[in-house]
Amino acid sequence: MNPKNALQGLNNPAIIVHGGAWSIPDDLKAEHLVGVINAVKTGYQILVEHGSALEAVERAVVCMEEDPTFDAGIGSFLNEEGYVELDALIMDGNTLNAGAIGAVSNCRNPIILARRLLEKINSPMMLVGRGADKFAEKVGLSCDPKELIIPREQERWEKGNVGKDIFSPNAKGTVGAVAVDMNGHLASATSTGGSPFKMIGRLGDSPLIGSGGYASEVAAASSTGHGESFMKLNAAKLAIDLVEQGHTPQMAAKIVIEKIASINGYGGIIIIDKQSRLGFHFSTTRMAYASISKEGHLDSGIDPK
Ligand code: ASP
Repeated sequence: MNPKNALQGLNNPAIIVHGGAWSIPDDLKAEHLVGVINAVKTGYQILVEHGSALEAVERAVVCMEEDPTFDAGIGSFLNEEGYVELDALIMDGNTLNAGAIGAVSNCRNPIILARRLLEKINSPMMLVGRGADKFAEKVGLSCDPKELIIPREQERWEKGNVGKDIFSPNAKGTVGAVAVDMNGHLASATSTGGSPFKMIGRLGDSPLIGSGGYASEVAAASSTGHGESFMKLNAAKLAIDLVEQGHTPQMAAKIVIEKIASINGYGGIIIIDKQSRLGFHFSTTRMAYASISKEGHLDSGIDPK
């Protein structure tokens, strides 16, 4: 590779994904790793075929929305009234255009819906609740809300209603992906079912531009964890600012998560920059992650490094 191109982040695509930061039990380790590896390979394939970072992060997140291992798309946590409300955010670092969807209840892949919003000319950047449901219908991405509920989550919801422990061992996480493409363009995507038994209409950090995700011409980030803490610090934008100020993505990830911990929050973040440098950090016991960089090198794991 031409060293000048490497410096500018050209022809050196890379991607990192996460599948949520929480105390993933040993018996769920394998399915988390399979899920994130499948997603990162899907995204990387798009990048090597000269696809855009935006396309790569969207497709990587769709893989995890379709996988009930994760709290995104089908199999997400149910809200206080026993149905699924999903949030998603996708952002293009090159244009700063974003598509954000909050509390949609009739869409299997809110990240695709978010991308459709991003691509729409003269449209809002964020749609929530009934507006998001109507948009899903309009663009042919709506489904029967019951299709999103799986027996495991129905059971968790029924148990929770009679005061049993609903969190362990099957709590699970948000998903996200950040990538840089052959042209050195960056993108970020995040998708979640939020928290179990959440109030109707509750939005966490995930669909909020700058909290759950952000992408600029320099770097892209996606967060997971206690949403209200990530919102307080605008955590994803904070990560990008740190990289723009000269920190490596790895250092920026560590600083952000330490700041989250200092306000009694918890979670994880993934970051990538234009030079294809990757960073991730989490304060929970585990976070499923996978990355492909340096001309095809795959790295994945669940425990801190
Ligand atoms: N941050 C998400 C939310 O608050 C949850 C998670 O990442 O696990 O909705």
